[in-house]
Amino acid sequence: MTHGKKTTGGQATHNQGADSQATLSFDAALKRWLANIKRLDPEVVSLDKSLGRTLATDLYSDIDVSPFDNSAMDGFALHANDSATASPADPVELEIITTIAAGDYFTDKLSQGQAARIMTGAPVPKGANTVVKVEDVSVRTEGEVTYLCLAEPASKGLNIRLAGEEIKAGECVLKRGDYISPAAIGLLAATGHARVPVYRLPTVGIISTGEELIPVEELPTGGKIRNTNSHSLAAQAQVAGAKVKQYENISDTLEACIAAFTQAVAECDIVISSGGVSVGDFDFVEKAVRSLGDLQFASVKMRPGKPQTTGMIGDTPFFGLPGNPASAYLGFELFIRPAILKMAGHTQLQRPVQQAVLAHDIKKRQGLRYFMRGRVGSCDGPKDCACGGKLADRELRRCVQLSGNQSSALLTSLHKGNCLLVLPEEETLVKAGSIIDCIRLDIAEGTEL
Ligand code: AMP
Ligand code: MG
Repeated sequence: MTHGKKTTGGQATHNQGADSQATLSFDAALKRWLANIKRLDPEVVSLDKSLGRTLATDLYSDIDVSPFDNSAMDGFALHANDSATASPADPVELEIITTIAAGDYFTDKLSQGQAARIMTGAPVPKGANTVVKVEDVSVRTEGEVTYLCLAEPASKGLNIRLAGEEIKAGECVLKRGDYISPAAIGLLAATGHARVPVYRLPTVGIISTGEELIPVEELPTGGKIRNTNSHSLAAQAQVAGAKVKQYENISDTLEACIAAFTQAVAECDIVISSGGVSVGDFDFVEKAVRSLGDLQFASVKMRPGKPQTTGMIGDTPFFGLPGNPASAYLGFELFIRPAILKMAGHTQLQRPVQQAVLAHDIKKRQGLRYFMRGRVGSCDGPKDCACGGKLADRELRRCVQLSGNQSSALLTSLHKGNCLLVLPEEETLVKAGSIIDCIRLDIAEGTEL
């Protein structure tokens, strides 16, 4: 057991709520599911492993960044007063007494009438208060001595990056709960944080049910199919930042479900299965959850994927996704992904929703929320867009259309799409030209559109 999991499973008291059999609205189901999902404990990781994680404590800087005033340009450091009388007709000449490269430290002080050649990032020497760019001046050598020739006065403070400009010693660099972006990694590096406390990433156990499933390498014959879901779900889990523990496919028996779920909840932070959640003769996931723990719900007023079976097995959240590949994929996107993000300490759990004008009519069944696979894009004129442009709302300038066949068995329309059209429960016909909410599957949670 690599992730410090506990020993529960099988001993939980059965506390079936009265409505655990009821079909919940999508909103109620999501709320109930996420209420059981807890943020995981912190762990300390090396700086480079902290990318994309959520910071578990406030972190402070041990130094000023930068630690010293330094030159922003390759040029010459001088005191502005020494250049005050410079003009093209009567240039000022200062003696160049040293060269200071990045990493050098000039311990003396420039005296009146002196300058130092200086490189980008090198400390500005004492006695200088400005840097002129190498491109803006000329130099002249006479015998052993080289002079800087200034044809105009330099203003004080030019091209100097001040100590502590980025952050001051003792200042808070990042706050608890901050997302660690590549830029944050740079800030943590500059402020001495080689090891970073972050919330632990969940390990997701994945179990596919179904006698019909065979491995990808094999050629299906005699009613068998290749196991799609174990692979797509594992990929989705990885994209969500989780670790994956893949289990053997199991056969369609209650005993197999019970044995596999018991093992997985002991080894993982969250367990998902695919298939076996419907009303077929060989669908045992719900029964297994009932016998091992507390069933939360088994049916949601949504399409695709009405039979979504979830519960707590001991203190491990369990989610039984439908077997049809598109239903399993969408169930993961809508329920499992926000749960993984919450466990990893993120607070933005929902993908951005963008409004767009529907390009064609869609018929639907009343009472279910439809999540339809589509493609949303900008729509600028009658000729440029597949919708003909005629539907584009003048202000919105964005239209959406279905990205292919919506059968719950088919993944192509997900691969080709970039969003889910959200069609409300009460509608039976959504007319072309309606303004539709589109969940952007290609944009991260918390992104402002
Ligand atoms: P089920 O939910 O078990 O009734 O399965 C519904 C449909 O999804 C059936 O056609 C199954 O063969 C198919 N299915 C179930 N599990 C998988 C899987 N892991 N990969 C591909 N298809 C699956
Ligand atoms: Mg099945």
